[in-house]
Amino acid sequence: MSSYTTERKGSSHKRVLVSGASVAGNALAHCLNLYGFQVTVVERWPGLRPGGQAVDLRGVAKEAVRRIGLEEEVRAARTETDGASFVTRSGRKVATLRADQFDGDGLIADLEILRGDLAEVFHDAAKDRTEYVFGDRIEALEEGPDGVSVRFASGKTRDFDLVVGADGQHSDTRSLVFGEEARYRHHLGHYVCFFTVPNHLGLNRWMRVYAEPGRTVAIRSIHDNREAMAFLTLRSPEFDYDHHDLDAQKALIHERFADAGWETRWLLSRLDSAPDFYFAAAAQIHLPHWWRGRTAFVGDAAYGPSSLSGQGTSLAVVGAFVLAGELAAAGGDHTVAFPSYQARLRAYAASNQAVGQSFERTSTARSRLGVVMQYAAIASLPYLPFKTFGEMQRAVNNLTLPDYGHLVLAH
Ligand SMILES: Cc1cc2nc3c(=O)[nH]c(=O)nc-3n(C[C@H](O)[C@H](O)[C@H](O)COP(=O)(O)OP(=O)(O)OC[C@H]3O[C@@H](n4cnc5c(N)ncnc54)[C@H](O)[C@@H]3O)c2cc1C
Repeated sequence: MSSYTTERKGSSHKRVLVSGASVAGNALAHCLNLYGFQVTVVERWPGLRPGGQAVDLRGVAKEAVRRIGLEEEVRAARTETDGASFVTRSGRKVATLRADQFDGDGLIADLEILRGDLAEVFHDAAKDRTEYVFGDRIEALEEGPDGVSVRFASGKTRDFDLVVGADGQHSDTRSLVFGEEARYRHHLGHYVCFFTVPNHLGLNRWMRVYAEPGRTVAIRSIHDNREAMAFLTLRSPEFDYDHHDLDAQKALIHERFADAGWETRWLLSRLDSAPDFYFAAAAQIHLPHWWRGRTAFVGDAAYGPSSLSGQGTSLAVVGAFVLAGELAAAGGDHTVAFPSYQARLRAYAASNQAVGQSFERTSTARSRLGVVMQYAAIASLPYLPFKTFGEMQRAVNNLTLPDYGHLVLAH
């Protein structure tokens, strides 16, 4: 990627520490670089964490990616999934959805990209101007009148002007600033899990989805059909699990899906040797204030809409764009920028969280009759003014991106 210059000056002296190097953290690092901030990103994993299913960029998020100069890179890395078939236990197809329906902003978005690949696009754009520290994390924050003193788990202590928590649904930075997660988490009654497997069905840019009461199993081809991604959804009340213990999470998937139909038995035989694995509650984060003092939050850490909404990534990208833009517009003054960031984004975040709540009611049917009705609804989606879909199309466009000045690409 080429380098940028910007007409806006005055923020280059500000040192910003970002916790988390996934979609929100890397996107924010790139956006802050465009305005001349000095950015350090600390990530708990030893490198960029691989894995995750395809995530979608819809509506205003596509415009944000275009404005920060990465549309070409994102489009080059997209999955190009043409559509999905919904199948019975024996694999018979009963309904089909195509990506080009609903103006490319539907259930399968036309700008769909593997989460790990998207994080990598932003990281590649940011890395030459950003200090990345992998395998470490913030252990304590102490705010003074001129900045924040940060102690890391490695034992180092460093000073920054501002800190941003981009460390996801279970943000440790948020716990340090606002206390325990349970106060802000709203469980949507589902758990999701993703892992990579061989493309043994020979899928060609396609996804197959099998639903049964309380569980959904999907397989899609990825990386030019060289591999496939398994996507399992479980409807369940909230239960306790260790967010860091992947073996225990895999054991749980084995147990809960042992008797599920279609291709599940084969998928489970590949689970333990999968190169990646991601398990998470479909939960929303409702943080009343997205900042305190010199620390702000972006992406899932502040307003995660849950994987059921399909909008977590778009929110994270738009959030990074607006947070960086507000900081630049205020010349780095966080007392102005942080409140305007929340004021500008609040309605957009809320409408996308509402989409997650609507999908909670319609995804993963509870009974056999529910599955039949779900398949019938999917088959008729292109022909019906389906409420959730209209709601989604309004939500994904529910923001006019501010103009933060002209970012000039210097070739
Ligand atoms: C491996 C993985 C796979 C995912 N797969 C999907 C998917 O298939 N579908 C979907 O809808 N959503 C998925 N998500 C969530 C999705 O990425 C987010 O909803 C959305 O993109 C917003 O991203 P985020 O950057 O705010 O949070 P996240 O993507 O959750 O990223 C948080 C980052 O912070 C890091 N981190 C956590 N704690 C600390 C700490 N204490 N210090 C430093 N770093 C820390 C994590 O390792 C991670 O890199 C996945 C997330 C991850 C991490």
